[in-house]
Amino acid sequence: MDSQYSEIRKDYRTGYYSVIVPGRDHRPKELEIEDEGAKNLKDCPFEPDTVDRVNLEIMHVNEPWTTMVIRNKFPELEGHTPLEYENGFFSSISGYGYNEVLIESPKHFDKFENMNLKKSLEWLNTLIEREEDLYSRNYIKHVMVFKNYGASGGASIGHPHTQIIAWPEILGTPAIEIEIAKNYLKENNSCIYEDAIKKEEGRILFETEKIIAIAPYGSRFAGESMILPKRHVNYIMDLSQEEKEELVEGLKKLIQTNKKLFGEQAYNFVIHENKKEKDYHMHIEVYPRLSNLAGIELGQNVFVNTMVPEDYTKKFKEIVGSI
Ligand SMILES: [Zn+2]
Ligand SMILES: [Zn+2]
Repeated sequence: MDSQYSEIRKDYRTGYYSVIVPGRDHRPKELEIEDEGAKNLKDCPFEPDTVDRVNLEIMHVNEPWTTMVIRNKFPELEGHTPLEYENGFFSSISGYGYNEVLIESPKHFDKFENMNLKKSLEWLNTLIEREEDLYSRNYIKHVMVFKNYGASGGASIGHPHTQIIAWPEILGTPAIEIEIAKNYLKENNSCIYEDAIKKEEGRILFETEKIIAIAPYGSRFAGESMILPKRHVNYIMDLSQEEKEELVEGLKKLIQTNKKLFGEQAYNFVIHENKKEKDYHMHIEVYPRLSNLAGIELGQNVFVNTMVPEDYTKKFKEIVGSI
């Protein structure tokens, strides 16, 4: 792409369109990253002294605790809701499911990207344990894991945490990606993500023996990336020990490098995977939150990305050193 002109790109994973606009300022300006809870730790519900062990349902804890998983106190979905479907002009599914929160550390100011390898693996293995349990429950078809960091990333609590939602159906972007991956497999007899690894040549951020990080061609956000195992793995539990290690180290490297590149920022990451959908290739998407969603994003589901993914790749590599 001529860096002077903008371009409308289709994301091969989702079919979503993004307008890639070169040459704007990428410094986060008004987006909030401050943590209200930090002003008074007594107000933080995830502190060792404040976490309500009596009333909260604790799903996982080690003692003395370093990682704890609790049922979300304000869940969007609940497991004791009867699962009912309404089909017709107005279609709906009752709010059956589970919301859990993985508290990554007892320490409020610990940062995900600064965890050591042992701690990162504990985080990943705790997620695997929770996913296994949730997938074993009646009607659960999809477990979504994601992290919101910073107020404009949607985090209402500053204490380091990851969220887990178990759904009775595969909904939204993962459903679209799975359908696209299945159709691609049928037509090309190969996995779209493995083909992407081969084709994304100019947008590879870094790679190790088992994993690779890419700035996807049709990125919706400035500084968007995805990290994935090179081998076909659809479910997080099927990762080998080496893949787990390289994946968590790589994920932290993405967040650390984005911080050097864009300054302190809110961000989200999401784990796209599914236990039963064998054709899906697991990947983690990372979105720095450098701008607010506006009318075009909300009204048309077309995203304006002010950083050409190739430029992001170039800047990223300047920081981490060439691969
Ligand atoms: Zn705290
Ligand atoms: Zn694959």
